[in-house]
Amino acid sequence: MKIGFIGLGNMGAPMAANLVKAGHEVTGFDTAAITVEGAATAGSAAAAATGQDVVITMLPNGAILRSVAAEVIPAMQAGAVLLDCSTVDVESARAVAEDAMAAGLKALDAPVSGGIGGAQAGTLTFMVGGTEDAFAIARPLFDIMGQKAVHCGPSGNGQAAKICNNMILGVTMIATCEAFALADKLGLDRQAMFDVVSTSSGYSWTMNAYCPAPGVGPQSPADNGYTPGFAAELMLKDLRLSQQAAEAADADTPMGAAAAALYATFVEEEDGKGRDFSAMLPRFETRHRG
Ligand code: NAD
Repeated sequence: MKIGFIGLGNMGAPMAANLVKAGHEVTGFDTAAITVEGAATAGSAAAAATGQDVVITMLPNGAILRSVAAEVIPAMQAGAVLLDCSTVDVESARAVAEDAMAAGLKALDAPVSGGIGGAQAGTLTFMVGGTEDAFAIARPLFDIMGQKAVHCGPSGNGQAAKICNNMILGVTMIATCEAFALADKLGLDRQAMFDVVSTSSGYSWTMNAYCPAPGVGPQSPADNGYTPGFAAELMLKDLRLSQQAAEAADADTPMGAAAAALYATFVEEEDGKGRDFSAMLPRFETRHRG
C-alpha cells in the first residue's frame, strides 16, 4: 500500500519503520523533521497525504489531530482511509471521522496499548472505531504494527475503549501501590505479599505482570529505577481524557477522578514527571496518614 505517516515521534517512527520493513511504500512527515529509514520524507502533512491509500496519524493530542486533519483531508484521494492511532478525546476522534467521511474518505480511530516497546516489536494492541469496510482495509497494517486489533464499533469507540482500559489501569496501579506501602508498615514482606495477592482475588495486571515493587514478580520498570515504561504523565493524560469523557457522557467515575487528581499531584507538584507510572509506590512509601 501507499501510506502517508504523520507524527514520527517515540511511537510513530518505529510503527512507520515496521511498515517499511514489510514492503509498504511509506511517506513520512513530522514537524520536528524526524525521518525514518526507507521512508520518503514530505515537506508538509498535506504532501505526505496526497495520493496515499492510507494516511496514518500518531500525534500528541486532539487539538493537533484536528489541525492536521483539516490540512490532510482535502489532500487525500476519494476512498482513502484516514487512520488515527493517537490517543485523543472521543469528541475530537468523532469530529475528525465525520469531516473525513463528509469528504468521501473512510476513517478509523485506532489508539494503541503496548507502549514504545510494543511499537518497536510490532506487538501493539489496536482498539478500533469506525466502519467495517475501513477496518478491513487497515487490517493488514494492524497485523504488521501489532499483534491484536479489536473492532469496538463506530467512530470514537476505539478511544472509548482505550480510556476505559487506562482508567482501570491507573486506579489499579494506585491501589496496588498503596497496598504495598500499607503492607510495609504492617511488617509484611513484599515477596509474601506478592505471592499471596498474585494468586488471590486482589490479583491484577499491575500486580502480576508489572509489579511496582523492585525485585518482586517479573521484570518491570521498578527493577530499572522506575524509568518508563509507561510514563506517569501519559497516565495523567489518559486519566484526564477519561474524566473529560465521563463529564460529557454524565457518567459517575469517582475512582477515575481520584486517580486523575493523584497523578496530577504526582506529575505536577512532586517528582513524578519522567518516571514510570508505577513510581507511585516510592511516593506512598514516604508518606504518612495525617
Ligand atoms: P511523541 O511526542 O514522541 O510524538 C508525537 C510526534 O508528533 C512528535 O514527533 C511531534 O514532532 C509530532 N507532531 C506534533 N505536531 C505535529 C504536526 N502538526 N504535524 C506533524 N507532526 C507533528 O509522542 P508518542 O509517545 O509517540 O505518542 C504519540 C501518541 O501515542 C500520543 O497520542 C500518545 O498518547 C499515544 N501513546 C503513547 C504511548 C507511549 O508509550 N509513548 C503509548 C500508547 C499511546
